[in-house]
Amino acid sequence: DRSEIGTDPRLLIETLMKELSQAATRATKLEAQFVEKSRELDVIRESLSQSEERARTDTLTGLPNRRALEEFFRNAQAQAMEQDQPLSVFLIDIDHFKQFNDKFGHGVGDQVLRLVGKALRDRVREYDLAARYGGEELIAVLPGADLDICKAAAERLRGALAECKITRRSTGEALPGITVSIGVGQFQFGETMEDLIDRCDRALYQAKKRGRNCIVTERELEPERAVG
Ligand code: GH3
Ligand code: MG
Ligand code: MG
Repeated sequence: DRSEIGTDPRLLIETLMKELSQAATRATKLEAQFVEKSRELDVIRESLSQSEERARTDTLTGLPNRRALEEFFRNAQAQAMEQDQPLSVFLIDIDHFKQFNDKFGHGVGDQVLRLVGKALRDRVREYDLAARYGGEELIAVLPGADLDICKAAAERLRGALAECKITRRSTGEALPGITVSIGVGQFQFGETMEDLIDRCDRALYQAKKRGRNCIVTERELEPERAVG
């Protein structure tokens, strides 16, 4: 209580010095606490971004999953419409994939899927998306690419896979060649991803009908018959 200090300036100075030193100690403690809390926050932030990354990644192939595809497409779609740029997609289905599982076991099937995933990822540009769409179906989204450019990219993947010979590491036996069928489509202003993928899917179905190991674009589809 300063009223008791009276007017002795030495006492006043001593008291003030003591208070100052206490305040400094408190400030140092607070600063240390602040540093510790910031570190804790960094750790939480890091683990959050890791789990977000995991939620967007397919564990088998390491490719972005369906959720990541939807996010990517939403942005790509908005950008295509804003900038009046093309945007195309190709949908890949591995031919006779079931045989790898049935004849050689699920592990080999998984390996084949990983291999096709890597082949796809290695063949798209860094601003494209290569994702796992479903079971043994992969998808590539190519911002800025029209139908022909997209078809050419799909063709490069198909050709590379068709030439690739694989052997079973454990036994050295040759495995059947891996081929894929692909359906290609180009985004139309205002449509949803589902509309576009539906056309790719129908083109893909035609590719299967043509004997597999080939590519069909939406241009080759019959015009949809009007309903009703
Ligand atoms: P098609 O040429 O007509 O596409 O024939 P397919 O044998 O590829 O087609 P089908 O749809 O009959 O078989 C797909 C198989 O893919 C069935 C399913 O068990 C298998 N599959 C889906 N996901 C996985 C996976 O993650 N790993 C493995 N090993 N197999 C999978
Ligand atoms: Mg399939
Ligand atoms: Mg298949």
